[in-house]
Amino acid sequence: CGVFGVVGVTDAANFVALGLHALQHRGQEAGGIVSHSSDVGFSSVRRFGYVRDNFTRASLMETLPGPLAIGHVRYSTAGSKAAAIRDVQPFFGEFSMGGAAIAHNGNITNANALRRELIERGSIFQSSSDSECIIHLMARSLQRDIPSRMEDALRRVEGAFSIVAMTRTKLIGVRDPLGVRPLVLGKVGDSGWALSSETCGLDIIGATYVREIEPGEMVVITENGGIESSHPFRKASSRFCIFEHVYFSRPDSIIGNRSVYETRRQIGVELAREAPVDADLVCAVPDSGTPAAIGFAHESGIPFGMGIIRNQYMGRTFIEPTEQIRNMGVRLKLNVNRALIEGKRVILVDDSVVRGTTSRKIKEMVLDAGAAEVHFRIASPPTSWPCFYGVDTPQREKLLAATMSEEEMTRHLGVDSLKFVSLDGLYRAVGQAEGRNNKCPQYCDACFSGEYPVKPADMIEQGFEM
Ligand code: 5GP
Ligand code: SF4
Ligand code: MG
Repeated sequence: CGVFGVVGVTDAANFVALGLHALQHRGQEAGGIVSHSSDVGFSSVRRFGYVRDNFTRASLMETLPGPLAIGHVRYSTAGSKAAAIRDVQPFFGEFSMGGAAIAHNGNITNANALRRELIERGSIFQSSSDSECIIHLMARSLQRDIPSRMEDALRRVEGAFSIVAMTRTKLIGVRDPLGVRPLVLGKVGDSGWALSSETCGLDIIGATYVREIEPGEMVVITENGGIESSHPFRKASSRFCIFEHVYFSRPDSIIGNRSVYETRRQIGVELAREAPVDADLVCAVPDSGTPAAIGFAHESGIPFGMGIIRNQYMGRTFIEPTEQIRNMGVRLKLNVNRALIEGKRVILVDDSVVRGTTSRKIKEMVLDAGAAEVHFRIASPPTSWPCFYGVDTPQREKLLAATMSEEEMTRHLGVDSLKFVSLDGLYRAVGQAEGRNNKCPQYCDACFSGEYPVKPADMIEQGFEM
């Protein structure tokens, strides 16, 4: 998911709509904005579909007035997949000291247990979303102000959360102690502030990047521009999601002072060193494989070409929730540039193999177009474990790498060769010259290593074996 918030500007919802549009790659199912103005109080609009189709300038001014607003773009990881509008964020709660709205990116790993407890004690849930627990925990807190109630609530929550929240007068940003999901702070004009999942959301509104919200940090920003920072949680060493670098974030975003594009290009360089192959052409599976393919071509000296062309009007295939749509998706989205590929030995670079749907289809298309050989090079290690922290990887049984060895996958996909970058190669590409520190890994890499930095309590209860 993507979260965004602005305070201290005229018509904040306009800025939020733009910010969410820049974060649309983080969730395409639905989006919502809540604003507050002193005249009308809180306003909320939540809709299925793209931001650009639901939040037009004219409609925003009327329906979402005020100098303070937050928003969310949704990609379902927890909660029901047959998404209902009641699951679309931001969520809103009315407390004795006024209302508050929250937008959550991540996944709460003890949400089932919390929900059971809260329902037993009288909470009435409106949605199937894990994030709604936070509102109910806030309602039960005895603290006198909303930021302190949020602290109370979040101390009971396990898992990953990057949250943008608002009261009548304050914009709040928080990250979980491990800082699994991103969140950055920007300055808008002289007195305004913005919070965004990624820096590309700041760029679109002309905000200046200030810094990341730190793991375990909470910032509270007032309408007149004051900002307070605190660290309400027990200290832990940070475990940012390494897959944000590989796939999830936009390549024009900056994470931890590193360009995501440059990191991805560097993964391609590592791949070319680790798994060279004699071939005529390096092609990307666009768009997610493009920077790594450029790095691979550069390092290997084999020319880069656009052998696969993407239809710009399709969304990310993976994010479509049902299997059937996803199967169709590949062909709707990608086509082969036959004139370039015919007769060539082709290296195809993609960011990841999850179910293997994409790679299988692409291999067929490339062979149909007359390629002499097809070699897959993957810019992440084999995805063999599900993510419980906000990326929608399927159950283990559906992950190709969970059930097959590299040789078996090569045969299953019917390609001449298939190689994945090593975990150490990936760590080198994100700037860890020594590779992965196996005693205390610098990132979350559970989907590749099976080492979960936060115990997935709900899943273990449902029989998941680590
Ligand atoms: P597959 O077709 O193997 O199931 O999925 C791999 C493709 O899905 C890749 O091209 C990758 O870009 C894309 N992808 C999209 N979202 C995700 C995600 O959340 N996790 C992973 N691992 N890959 C994703
Ligand atoms: Fe990111 Fe993978 Fe960890 Fe999920 S399991 S947070 S996708 S590194
Ligand atoms: Mg892709």
